[in-house]
Amino acid sequence: MATDRGRAHKGKQAMDLLICNASLPDGQQGIDIAIKEGKIAAIGTALQGSGLLAAQHIDVGGDLVTPPFVDAHFHMDATLSHGMPRVNASGTLLEGITLWGELKPLLTQEALVERALQYCDWAVARGLLAIRSHVDICDDRLLAVEALLHVRQQVAPYLDLQLVAFPQDGLLRSPNAFANLQRAIAMGVDVVGGIPHFERTMADGAESVRLLCEFAAQRGLQVDMHCDESDDPLSRHIETLAYHTQRLGMQGRVAGSHLTSMHSMDNYYVSKLLPLIREAGVAAIANPLINITLQGRHDSYPKRRGMTRVPEMMAAGIDVAFGHDCVMDPWYSLGSADMLEVAHMGLHVAQMTSQQAMRDCFAAVTTSPARILGLQGYGLAVGCYADLIVLDAADAVEAIRLRAARRLVIRRGKIISESAPVRSRLRLPGRPDEVSFRSVCAADNIG
Ligand SMILES: [Zn+2]
Repeated sequence: MATDRGRAHKGKQAMDLLICNASLPDGQQGIDIAIKEGKIAAIGTALQGSGLLAAQHIDVGGDLVTPPFVDAHFHMDATLSHGMPRVNASGTLLEGITLWGELKPLLTQEALVERALQYCDWAVARGLLAIRSHVDICDDRLLAVEALLHVRQQVAPYLDLQLVAFPQDGLLRSPNAFANLQRAIAMGVDVVGGIPHFERTMADGAESVRLLCEFAAQRGLQVDMHCDESDDPLSRHIETLAYHTQRLGMQGRVAGSHLTSMHSMDNYYVSKLLPLIREAGVAAIANPLINITLQGRHDSYPKRRGMTRVPEMMAAGIDVAFGHDCVMDPWYSLGSADMLEVAHMGLHVAQMTSQQAMRDCFAAVTTSPARILGLQGYGLAVGCYADLIVLDAADAVEAIRLRAARRLVIRRGKIISESAPVRSRLRLPGRPDEVSFRSVCAADNIG
């Protein structure tokens, strides 16, 4: 990758930055991207030779350039708290919720802010520049809400943080949850959350979906619920969520997160359910790393995978994104803000191994969650924000295969993070000095 700052010119057409010789996620190659005042001003072939002037040139040598990663489902109030006050011994969802309940009274706003900011640093370094985070509103102090509102403001210049008011202990099961949720929204939280499968009964779950959708509809807010996060084939809250979305005219503003029960549902019922979800314009957010580790825990063998029906929903025309959900918290002790790791796991769990399906997995951590979050100015078109990452990979499939290094992370036309490409020095007689793991043939667009 060659950069050149020595060609500053003056003139009407002068650009701030010209990225040359990029490959794009749709397979186009040899593309130049001109950036002016934080936005994409031109994109196409041979811009460099067209007389267009730029203060800085970066030749990326055919590397993949893409809009940034977007995480549609995360818990920033819990992240990086692994081991506090103890570790999750069973590794189950329910022990995780119990453990989070033990940790909540011990939280301080300072520590919450510090951990969230540290996570945002990791995110930026990984080219992850937009995150939808749920924030637990069941603690009457709303400490986490205050902390993450502060963080949202602090990181705004470099990361879009969207907050969901999340009644972790149940909207109807936890005494002040609905009042707290309304307080959180009044304080500036963006999206209405829910957890119908954790209410005391299926009927209470359905009632919580109705109450939350009506509340959101009255205020013109988006909805994103943890929905059917269980292996129970009879958990039906996604049907209720689609029903109220349709009834209230909220198409395109509602997402169901997890939807793991769908993995275990009867196939005939799913053949009716998917068109209902599509008709209601409800998006789906799977969380592959967490679903594959938390679901199927009551099974002996064979063990269910638990992740929702991702390729089937995509084929039905439903918007599907992959979320990270957890990083080093009571539910999951691994992770590093790497959405390529998330896509890699999603691809394997869903057996999405055709070339197109692998590109769909890349879209599930970029363009699809950007649509679900309603991000403005996201994309690779003239007028979009110049928010871009340069990956140490030739295409989207290689990016997933290598969890490729983010050589440059660009926000509004400015480089905000750089990483060295991964190379190893070999000490083997008769063999090359260096290996890069990059593909030797660029024939990844077959099929
Ligand atoms: Zn979650």
